[in-house]
Amino acid sequence: MYCEVCNFDFTQRYGNRGKDFIEGHHKKLVSELKEGEKTKVEDIALLCSNCHRMIHRKPLITVEELIEIVRKTRDFDYETTVKY
Ligand SMILES: [Zn+2]
Ligand SMILES: [Zn+2]
Repeated sequence: MYCEVCNFDFTQRYGNRGKDFIEGHHKKLVSELKEGEKTKVEDIALLCSNCHRMIHRKPLITVEELIEIVRKTRDFDYETTVKY
């Protein structure tokens, strides 16, 4: 199991201690759920703790928005590496 945004793998980093550890993020706000509606598997994003916190940092953003931010930041890192 790995983070949907940054591909962080807890087992890879923490070995047995991180085995099967991942945080679940509800893509639908609980307040948007209709009464009696069950949370579907596809409504849950699997995230590492860092990405999860970044999504919840005000203002709340979507998983897709965070993926876009991480992708852009990586491109930037790559460019500076090439330059210097
Ligand atoms: Zn992550
Ligand atoms: Zn969450």
